[in-house]
Formats: sequence, C-alpha cells, structure tokens
Amino acid sequence: MRTISLALAALFVSATMPQAGRAQSSSTSAASSTPITITVDATDAPRKMLHADMVIPVQAGDLTLVYAKWIPGEHGPTGPIDNLAGLAIRANGQTLPWVRDNVNMFAFHVHVPDGVTELHVHDDFLATAGTAGFSAGASTSANLGMVSWNEVMLWPQAPSAKDVMVTPSVILPEGWKYGTALTATGHDGNTTHFATVPLNELIDSPLLSGRWFREIPLAPEISPKHYLDLAADGPEDLEVPPQMLAGFNNLVRQASATYRSHHYGSYHFLMTLSDQVAHFGLEHHQSNDDRVPEKTFLDPNIDVLAAGLLPHEFTHSWNGKYRRPAGLLSPDFQTPMKGNLLWVYEGLTTYLGDVLTARSGLWTDDQYRDALADSAATLDHRPGRTWRDLQDTATAAQTLYEADRQWGNWRRSVDYYPEGELLWLEADTIIRQQSGGKKSLNDFCARFLGLGGNTGPITVPYTFDDIVSNLNAVQPYDWAGFLTDKLTTKVDHAPLGGIERGGYQVVYTDTPNSMTKAREALGGLNAWYSLGLMASGNGTLGDVLFYSPAYKAGLGPGMKIVAVNGRQYSNSLMHDAIRNSKTAQTPIELIVVNTGYYRTVKIDYHGGELYPHLERVAAKPDLLDQILQPLGKTPKS
Ligand SMILES: [Zn+2]
Repeated sequence: MRTISLALAALFVSATMPQAGRAQSSSTSAASSTPITITVDATDAPRKMLHADMVIPVQAGDLTLVYAKWIPGEHGPTGPIDNLAGLAIRANGQTLPWVRDNVNMFAFHVHVPDGVTELHVHDDFLATAGTAGFSAGASTSANLGMVSWNEVMLWPQAPSAKDVMVTPSVILPEGWKYGTALTATGHDGNTTHFATVPLNELIDSPLLSGRWFREIPLAPEISPKHYLDLAADGPEDLEVPPQMLAGFNNLVRQASATYRSHHYGSYHFLMTLSDQVAHFGLEHHQSNDDRVPEKTFLDPNIDVLAAGLLPHEFTHSWNGKYRRPAGLLSPDFQTPMKGNLLWVYEGLTTYLGDVLTARSGLWTDDQYRDALADSAATLDHRPGRTWRDLQDTATAAQTLYEADRQWGNWRRSVDYYPEGELLWLEADTIIRQQSGGKKSLNDFCARFLGLGGNTGPITVPYTFDDIVSNLNAVQPYDWAGFLTDKLTTKVDHAPLGGIERGGYQVVYTDTPNSMTKAREALGGLNAWYSLGLMASGNGTLGDVLFYSPAYKAGLGPGMKIVAVNGRQYSNSLMHDAIRNSKTAQTPIELIVVNTGYYRTVKIDYHGGELYPHLERVAAKPDLLDQILQPLGKTPKS
C-alpha cells in the first residue's frame, strides 16, 4: 500500500524456502462442495450504494456470519463495517432474526432452523466515505466505481478463507466496462458471471468499472499477460502520453528481469483517474488498485509525484503477496495481523519500486535522486527517532496510518517506508561492495521473491531468520547484526550509509529539487530545512519541526500565518523573506492566529532557503548510478 504524497505536510503516507517445504496455497479445494454465490448490483454506484445478494449453503443449528475485519495490504482492522446496511437473512421465504456479537462488531449470529440448507443474505454497502483513507474511502463517482468484495461479503466463520469457495457475479450500469483479475465465464444482459474462486482470492480481486474505460495490453512479448485498465471521469483523461505508456511497458519488462519469476495467471493494473475518489495504491496478487487524480496523465507535477505508485504496487505481487511476513497472514480476515516485518514488506517494496520507476524510465535518474534526497532529508530531520526506533514504527503500524500529521516529526509516521528504503539501499551497496561487483540485491530478489520459479497466486510466509539466511546465501555478512542495528538504534540522524556507499552525499542548496517544485506547484510552502515549517497555500502550518527556528519562536501546527514582515501572507512573500534573511539585519516577523488569538512572532533566522539534493562524490564508486541502470537490453523510454 502507498499513499500519493501530493501534499507538502504529508511526506509519507500511501505488503525462504517455505517453512518445512510447505507453501500456503490459495487454490485448494473447498471444505464445502457447494460454493457460496454472491451477486453485486453496482447499478447504484453513482449514488454511492452497492447491493449484494448471497446464497450460502448451511446446516441447521447456530451459525456465525463474519465480515472481513483485517484487510491485507492495509495492515490494520480497516474493514468498513460502519457502512454495512440493510442486512436481511432469509430461509425458505421466511426472515430469520440475527444478532450482532457483543464484542466482535464484525460477526452476526443466526439460528438456522431444521430443514434449511441455504440462507439468502442481502446487504447494502453505503459507499459514502470521503476521499481520505484507503480502499474503504470514496470509491465511486457518476461514471465509475470500484467493487471491493470484502465490503459486501458475509460468510460462515471458518478457520481459513481459502477453504470457502465463492462464485461471484456483478451487475453494472448500462454501457459500463470493467477490469479485474477474475475470469469471466459468461454474460447475461448487464450481468457478468465469474469463475468460482476461494474467498481469499475473491477479496484479493477487486473489479474496476466505468463508463469511460480503456484496457491496454502491456509488454505483449512477455507471458503471463499484463493489462493497464483505466477508468476515468471523462474520456479525455484516458489518453496516456506515449512516453508514459512506454514507461509502463518497460515497468513490466524490468520487473520481470529483476524478479525473474511470476506468481499470477495474468496481471491487471486497475487505475482510477478521478478527483472524486480516495487517492492511494493497494496491492493485490494479480492486480492492483491505483487511484490517482483525474489529471495525472495531463499534469506533469502530479505525474512526477505519482510515478512511483504502479511500480510499488506491482512489486508487492512478489514482496507482500507471494512472500509475506508470517505475522501479516490473517487466514480468516479476523485474526489480528502483526506488523513487525513491515520494514521488509513495505520498506523493501519502496526501495525496489522506486528503483524500477527509474529503470523503466517513469522517472529520470535525477528525479529518482531528488525523491531519495527527500526521503533522506526528511528522516535526517526526524527528532522522533530519538525516542522511537524503526522497529516500533512497524510494530505500531496499525496506529500510524491514520495518525494526525501534526507534530508528526516527533510522533514519527509509517517511517518503515522511507527508512526501509534507506536500509535496503545500504544492503544493496554492501552486497555489491563485498562481492566485488559480482552480486547485488537483484540476486537476493531472484532467490527470495522468485522461490520455486513461476507459481500461481500462492503465499509463502517468512520470518526474520529467513531474511538473514537468504541474504547470507547471496553474500556472507553479519546481516543479523546489520539489520538489528538499523531496527533498534535511537539516534537523531538518518542512516545514510547506502547513499554514501552509492557515491553520493546529501547537500542543501537554495534551489528546490524537482519533487519540492512539483509539490509547491500544487500548493503549499516547504520551509522545513530552513525555518522548520510546512504551510498550506493559505499559510496554515501543517507541521513545525522540533527544535527548529520556527519551533523556538513558539510556532506550532494548526496556527495560521496571516502576515509576513507586515504584509498579508502569500507563499511568494514567505519565500522572499526566507531568501532575504541571509542579508537581513532583523528577524522575520510574522503575525499568526492561533485558535482565534493573534500575536506577533519573530524568527531570528538568517540562513536563506535550503532544499535537499544528492551530490556526487567523485572519489567513490558510482554504485547508485549502476543500480538505476535498466536490466537486460530494454532502453529507458
Ligand atoms: Zn506498499
């Protein structure tokens, strides 16, 4: 999962050998010989409602129906039970009474009378959520909709969802087309029927549909097949610029060359282009759910900030879906997940996804380095690192995704994304150095993520020890010590060893890098490395950096700057004031309003504007440049 970091104040947040040789298959046969059927009527998606009808085989006696609570990829109990409505359970034409469990809000108890062999269950999903959040956020508009099956599905409580078989169908509005990893078996008017799948595969296979819809095959010479499925609010938003399309094709080629395996029958990039839906990416084994702003293909600023989304979510098919930390497997969607290895699931994916973004040409090498400079600088100005280690951010993941961004530099956020990226970059450079250039993290990926060669969508769990043993198999080193140190050290500064071994250093200049320029073009002010503040376009402070000049002057998040040196606030005036501070004899004077009270604040700062960049250190080998080179003969687009 990944958020799209368009806003300045939200810099981040956006999945061994098998144990005893046994992999968990998602395609084993069902315990019950008769599948559940579910028909989702999406014809009311434009007015934010889905209707579902299920036929569930049962036996007489007490029965508990459950609703998915722990959502894979979201790493938390985010199932949108609050928006489930209209629940009605019937048998033999009679309505049966049900009662919700007193403790588990995701469970419903019902007594099945003698002689009853199937229940007819109806529910409605109220798709009214706002544009914040992830898959439970806004998912529909007048002309498109995403069906996430977990939002409507109820099933008899069972130890493992892969043993519950389901035959799904969907009814779409007239004229809408769709994309999904499910296999269609037939059409009946506006109804499409799909092949029976295990419940975990159904929940892992959302369906994107829309009036304005386009499917583009990618890298057709590669098998299995890959498709870019696009739904947009208007037909003009479906036009993919040739350069970008070339990058998507190269992404498939570069991922195949890097991971040297596939674990799906075919793969669908399900991309929603809409300002009406939540913006994020969520991985699935054979598809991904990418929701981006409507003008992503047309606005170069949005494009550069969103470019890493598809490579990240695609990488999760290997790292997160095929290989998954044992603690993040919730076999029944009810068992709590443990996030302690998210620095592998999300951290390694952030590293590999961003490298693939450069290798495929979706970013230039300069843009990759600017994004990495942002990550490094953000973590190097993260005072929360002094009280909270990297391991704790992963362990507490389910509390951090929705945590407020204010004082985020002291709380810390889901830092296992960017700090995991630095960790795995350092591991890559260590392997390259220690092996004399013969090995790299690509070899670890081929071994660890390509275990067993090509497979179907199965999941093979792993532990910390599996990571260490696979790294050692590629290049002997004290990997346990290296990783433990990175996970448990509490220091003020970021681990920049990978950038340094890669032949670069983080420097600060008065010129914004390409990522900062793109974010400021979309609104807001980044004075994080100078004054120590982020502001929205109207001067409201998103966050204030602990111990910075702004902090020492008494500023805090949520305050609003209304005047700069006596003039009404604008980003431009603020930039001028910071730039001129180098030669100014007086402090920068601000008028701020805080919960209705006005006061004057003086920031005694004279350092000018400061923005992070990576600068080449000529005396060191250019390992980072080598890492960004495309694999094989595929040129960058
Ligand atoms: Zn992710």
